[in-house]
Amino acid sequence: MNFTFLLWPSVIIAAILGVFFFMRRHRRFEIAALTSSKVMDHIKDLAIVLDQHGNIVTFNQAAQQACGISTAAIGNPADNLSRPWSDLFKRYAQDIFKDEIRVELHYYQLTISPIKDNRNRTLGRLFMLHDITESKLAEQAMAESESRYQQLVKLLPDGVITHRDGKIQFVNSASVEMIGASSASELIGKKFLDIVHSDSQELVIRRIQRSLIDKSANPLVNEKFVRLDGRTIDVEVTSRPIDIDGAPTFMVVFRDISEKKLADEKLQQLSRAVEQSPASILITNIEGIIEYVNPRFTLVTGYTAEEVLGKNPRILSTDQTQTGTHRDLWEKISTGREWQGEFVNRKKNGELYYESAIISPIIDANGVTTHYLAVKEDITERKRAEAELQALQVELREQAIRDPLTGLFNRRYLNETLEREIARAARENYPVSFIMSDIDHFKTINDTYGHPVGDIVLKNLAAELISHARVGDIICRHGGEEFLVILPGVSSDDAFQIAERSRKSFQALRTEHGEFEIRATLSSGIATFPKNGTKSMELIALADQALYQAKSNGRNCVVVSRLVNL
Ligand code: GH3
Ligand code: MG
Ligand code: MG
Repeated sequence: MNFTFLLWPSVIIAAILGVFFFMRRHRRFEIAALTSSKVMDHIKDLAIVLDQHGNIVTFNQAAQQACGISTAAIGNPADNLSRPWSDLFKRYAQDIFKDEIRVELHYYQLTISPIKDNRNRTLGRLFMLHDITESKLAEQAMAESESRYQQLVKLLPDGVITHRDGKIQFVNSASVEMIGASSASELIGKKFLDIVHSDSQELVIRRIQRSLIDKSANPLVNEKFVRLDGRTIDVEVTSRPIDIDGAPTFMVVFRDISEKKLADEKLQQLSRAVEQSPASILITNIEGIIEYVNPRFTLVTGYTAEEVLGKNPRILSTDQTQTGTHRDLWEKISTGREWQGEFVNRKKNGELYYESAIISPIIDANGVTTHYLAVKEDITERKRAEAELQALQVELREQAIRDPLTGLFNRRYLNETLEREIARAARENYPVSFIMSDIDHFKTINDTYGHPVGDIVLKNLAAELISHARVGDIICRHGGEEFLVILPGVSSDDAFQIAERSRKSFQALRTEHGEFEIRATLSSGIATFPKNGTKSMELIALADQALYQAKSNGRNCVVVSRLVNL
């Protein structure tokens, strides 16, 4: 602060008193003579002289302007002046005074000095008012900002420490808390580096030294910081040299980032998990606009993140997805529930793929859905494998119940189904005829043309039997060259006609083998449910017996069983 203004009144008083003594020596003392004093008019301070009765004796130009005094007031009491000036002269009735006063919006340094004659009698008083408003306001503003600053530092969640010559000068409460001290006084005066332990202390010291030399602030650095209680916390430190009263001081600001770091690490782990997930992950906003896709999504669909961000997942949709899937999905997730299901989607290259998905709403702390999360798996391979397995199972089953040479059902299938067929016929009251057929002298064909030629004949007969079959008929290779045809809903008479037709067409059949044409004939025996019997095994035996009869009758004929086995 500039205190030179305090010198001025002394100079002026000395000057005025000088004039007094000069005049007193040369002529009779006249206080009014001061009125014309040029000295007084040349100073900016307000100067007013009152006599011992409080009447105005003289004043300078500055006072004239500030107090609105006119020359007419001379000789009259200062009380007559307008307020607040009249009050001022009333209040400060003493002969000697020096202090700051306030007059309305102005601040003055008021100096009252007595004016005495040579016998030390008081003749009057000189009021000097030096305007200090400007500096006073500046001082006030400074004090205010200082207190604001103090409060700010106090309330700051960051730790603030200043140290000079390595010794702690100031710590705020956040630092006390962070360092783990019990109070600020425990730290003040201590060596900064004794208090602030760091894993990389050497580094910190060097940095501090450098910035002291450079007079520059250190960049923000992350440090492990060991508290007085031994606990390690993560802090963000920034340090800078500051100038307090011309002495180089060092300010360090700490921020405890342990929780943030922990949260950051967790978040990083999570995002790594999402990024590296073997599942496609897609996040949309509540309007269904894609905001994130992971690399797996790109791998599966062929669409890069840039290509799909801002778009709707509909770009993948096809009409092959089961109808109602999307409606069901939105119904669930828009009511805060999780949806699970399958899509048939299209890749960028047009290829279709199966996808199983779990889609769930992401709900914030206030219970509001902010996003939707889809975790999806390409199940095309699985679907294909499943279909293959199913086909394989069908094939295996077919193999188990069919004869590989002719493709007809085998005896195993017959055993599985016959009981059921008979039971149904009994329930629904319709007949079932059994035609047992055997190729005549087949052994000779084998012996003459070879086994493979015999196989061709067998296949030809099978084809012949199939060509005459209706839906529901069961044609079965019962043995080597023995065939059993089961005809549900067919009476023995009708069965005889059918067997005759087969016999004739087989007889007409020619199997070509090189230059030879092979012919064969067929003998058949018929038994019918329920006429001849009610049990499938009995009926087969009866049909077999009738066949035997046909063979006995000279072959190439059909015999209907007349036996009854009830
Ligand atoms: P019959 O008129 O009395 O029936 O005389 P057959 O020669 O047909 O006599 P049989 O029924 O006893 O002979 C059946 C022959 O059928 C015996 C066997 O070698 C032959 N055979 C059985 N299964 C197959 C086969 O899968 N392929 C061939 N090529 N021959 C078979
Ligand atoms: Mg035979
Ligand atoms: Mg036979």
